[in-house]
Amino acid sequence: METADVDAHNDDYDYDVLVVGSANADLTVRVERRPDAGETVLGTDLVESAGGKGANQAAAAARLGGRIALLARVGGDAYGELLLNAQRAAGTDVTHVITDPGARTGTAMIIVGDDGDNSIVVSLGANAALSPQDIAAAHKVIAGAAVVSLQLEIPMETVEATAAAAREAGTRVVLNPSPAPESLAPALLAAADPLVVNEHEARRISGAADGGPADWARALRALGARSVVVTLGGDGAYVLDADGEAAVPGVRVTAVDTTGAGDAFTGALATRLARGESLATAARYAVRVGAAAVTRPGAQPSYPTPDELPGA
Ligand code: ATP
Repeated sequence: METADVDAHNDDYDYDVLVVGSANADLTVRVERRPDAGETVLGTDLVESAGGKGANQAAAAARLGGRIALLARVGGDAYGELLLNAQRAAGTDVTHVITDPGARTGTAMIIVGDDGDNSIVVSLGANAALSPQDIAAAHKVIAGAAVVSLQLEIPMETVEATAAAAREAGTRVVLNPSPAPESLAPALLAAADPLVVNEHEARRISGAADGGPADWARALRALGARSVVVTLGGDGAYVLDADGEAAVPGVRVTAVDTTGAGDAFTGALATRLARGESLATAARYAVRVGAAAVTRPGAQPSYPTPDELPGA
């Protein structure tokens, strides 16, 4: 039974997963047609919700029952409070979230058209100030986590400092290189165990525009990643590590909104790796969590508890 194992923590660690990353307020308006330059259109009422890849992954992991902490920066404004409250509600330890009274909380201004396509402007705000000094001050926290989970919505030097600190401490690094960069520093790739990429990120970072998941994953391992997971939307995921490859089939659900599905997947994967599961077994669980997340609207509000997972 899914709920029975939520207490199966590894007591050698303070946290199953420490997520180091971004926290944004998502400000969403729906419109009939997204405006051209110089044009004004009317939209629906504004919807404010908790987002940001780091915060999403922490919330997804915490809802599944792990001991999860978030290391992030928010501003001393109402959005900062909204984000902290969302994390507390999910069960995340927010002791290591730094509130900077002089900064604005990061925001993503999202305009969604009737065609389902969106235009997004991100204001990094406090996320831009998450620094290598913050990471140096958190060395004990990093060493006390079984897994550190990283994405790329904070300064790259901070991501690299975190990966280096984790490797030094023997903490496993899960790296989701999103938004997709042109390339990744060799030391960062070498820390990734696994590198978690969607199809777009896999093509871009591997440099292998053609081919399929097996080709991209092999190319990414050749570039230095210790292991690779390629997420494939409704088709599940492809896994490659030293033990070999595994194709994890998707779970058939009625997709309502895929926002934040990748973050749900990665947060779930990290919690299972923290408990010592193999990459393929952890990916099977994460595919179910990702599938659950697409059946409800929004990012964090769509994340499931263990008893809400489809497909056994
Ligand atoms: P997003 O950017 O929408 O957050 P992503 O592009 O990073 O997602 P995807 O590969 O699209 O990542 O999806 C991640 C996981 O979510 C998949 O591995 C799968 O488990 C689940 N998922 C996504 N879309 C669907 C779908 N239509 N049906 C079932 N599961 C899905």
